[in-house]
Amino acid sequence: MGYTSRWYQIPDNLQADWLGILVSIKAPATRGGVITAVEGNRWVVTLAGIGRDYPPTDEAGFLDFARSLHTPIIYEAIKDAQANSPLYAYKRTENSWRHYEKLSRLPESLVILGDAVCAFNPVYGQGMTTAAIGALTLSECLAKQLSHNADGNLVGLSRTFQKQLSKTIVIPWLMATGEDFRFSTTEGGRPNFMTRLMQRYIDQVLLLSSQSTHIHKAFLEVMHLLKPPSALFHISIFRQVLQRIIKQLTTR
Ligand SMILES: Cc1cc2nc3c(=O)[nH]c(=O)nc-3n(C[C@H](O)[C@H](O)[C@H](O)COP(=O)(O)OP(=O)(O)OC[C@H]3O[C@@H](n4cnc5c(N)ncnc54)[C@H](O)[C@@H]3O)c2cc1C
Repeated sequence: MGYTSRWYQIPDNLQADWLGILVSIKAPATRGGVITAVEGNRWVVTLAGIGRDYPPTDEAGFLDFARSLHTPIIYEAIKDAQANSPLYAYKRTENSWRHYEKLSRLPESLVILGDAVCAFNPVYGQGMTTAAIGALTLSECLAKQLSHNADGNLVGLSRTFQKQLSKTIVIPWLMATGEDFRFSTTEGGRPNFMTRLMQRYIDQVLLLSSQSTHIHKAFLEVMHLLKPPSALFHISIFRQVLQRIIKQLTTR
């Protein structure tokens, strides 16, 4: 995936019934975009493409890409708006996880955390939270080590920490890669049965989110790593997902 962003002045005479726009990329479509209002009466406009279908970084190409989305709403908004920044492109969106915890030899007095261990496709917004959880994990490992070693001996800490850290990465990793696996162009393996099942389940949760603040909040809490994914299987949500699936099956 790659995306290109640009700032625009919000037109004074704007006649719109929206504050922001998200044209989501739903497989098999490969293109989407976002308009977000920010300080200084400006929009940040981001266009994104999957499978190396990158949005161009020249003015005409950017507008053409906006026009090609499955709704022209972003194009209509920006075609006459005043741009007030260059076009910025970003393409390093692969997920990568380096398994230091599996090394047979690891130097003492060295810990690795944050993006140096695991970097995510940034569109899911998990990198900073996961890095912060890594820092908290280091704090816990240090406290435990020192409680057993009053003399301050840190031998063994590196390995213990890398192992603990890897456990905190599993969930955000599955969430990010599970979403990226929706696209057939994603490289690095194929989604397994569980991933495909989760994708179907999340589709229903997302559809229900547009009608239920309770489900929307639960979804955001899981995405922001405040709650485990099991929160989306709470009986109050599971029942509604099941009802939708049964309805779909019986109306076929
Ligand atoms: C385009 C983009 C958008 C993102 N959006 C989000 C988002 O919306 N939400 C979110 O949670 N996360 C987001 N992330 C991810 C987030 O930025 C990272 O996960 C987070 O910054 C990782 O923190 P870190 O401390 O591990 O690494 P970094 O923040 O990269 O810090 C590493 C630091 O080390 C310095 N450094 C590197 N080499 C050396 C050296 N040899 N000597 C000295 N210093 C060195 C670098 O200059 C840098 O300051 C985004 C990332 C990108 C690239």
